[in-house]
Amino acid sequence: MARVYNFCAGPAVLPEEALLEAQMELLDFNGSGMSVLECSHRGKEYAAVHDECVANLKKLLKISDDYAVLFLQGGASTQFAMVPINLLVNGQTADYLNSGAWASKAIKEAKLIGKVNVAADCGKEIPTRVPSEKEMKFTPGAAYVHITSNETISGAQYKSFPKTEAPLVADMSSDFLSRPFDMNQFGLVYAGAQKNLGPAGVAVVIIRKDLAGRVPANTPTMLKYTTHIENNSLYNTPPCFAIYMINLVTRWIQKMGLENLYKQNRAKAQKIYDVLDSSKFYKATAVKECRSDMNVTFRLPSEQLEEMFVKEASQQKLKGLKGHRSVGGIRASIYNAFPLKGIDTLVSFMKEFEKKNS
Ligand SMILES: *Cc1c(COP(=O)(O)O)cnc(C)c1O
Repeated sequence: MARVYNFCAGPAVLPEEALLEAQMELLDFNGSGMSVLECSHRGKEYAAVHDECVANLKKLLKISDDYAVLFLQGGASTQFAMVPINLLVNGQTADYLNSGAWASKAIKEAKLIGKVNVAADCGKEIPTRVPSEKEMKFTPGAAYVHITSNETISGAQYKSFPKTEAPLVADMSSDFLSRPFDMNQFGLVYAGAQKNLGPAGVAVVIIRKDLAGRVPANTPTMLKYTTHIENNSLYNTPPCFAIYMINLVTRWIQKMGLENLYKQNRAKAQKIYDVLDSSKFYKATAVKECRSDMNVTFRLPSEQLEEMFVKEASQQKLKGLKGHRSVGGIRASIYNAFPLKGIDTLVSFMKEFEKKNS
């Protein structure tokens, strides 16, 4: 089989098992004689998928009935606007923690809607990191506090979440279901699926239902969380196939065990960080305490060497290692489904490349 080691940041590697199952069922889903791509979103075949996917997510994260699990369109980027449209009302202020490129985009969007206080800002620092609790200056009576749990571009990740009086909102696009977390700490969590969960085209949103009630009455129907809560994400046609794929991936996560995956993810990342730490050639770009388990970012001594590194790696089936175009360098995105063997192949390649070029 011609599968490569796929280090792409998103869309990204998915469990082979889930892909094979989708392939097997593509023409005839569950004896319906139709593809799941062709089934009505109101029919019983699709309903079973949709409901199982909600149930699996609730079970994996032990989510109580105070919360709703939603599948919404427009990616995580639409959530940058939907969060303030629904939760930032009555002239209140929302606190945002700036940890980098994605947090900045969320802030920019919220400012279009209401009053924003940047409660801590290390978004432009290099080496990159996330704000520490000491430096956070929260607004009394804030509508909510927004964080980006993992900065996909810079490779900085919160290892614990700040304790806040206001409801905590997190963009978990690139580390959702890579580790267990207590949903009760959060008012709202959202994640574009294409990083760690499934195909592009859907965002998972988990929201404490009482918060959704804040929304102004004149908000367009599709932009209200209440619409989607009341209709179990079936107000209009949902991205059925993307949700079907997420369902297959959640089954795989259940089988693997979320706690086990977390352990495995940490071990995978550590193998690469160990190479970086024992080298004068490679340089990690995030501070040690904030290093991401999902996106490992580093530099080489020159851009020319980085270019060579990406090219030679690619010849050995190590694909997608080029850093984000805005920051350069190297980025190895190693989500849940990225295999251990691929990490070992990268580690050998890195050592070899260093020997040849340092
Ligand atoms: C990719 C990403 C987004 C944007 O996701 P889209 O689905 O493309 O809108 C937002 N936040 C983070 C942390 C991301 O990694």
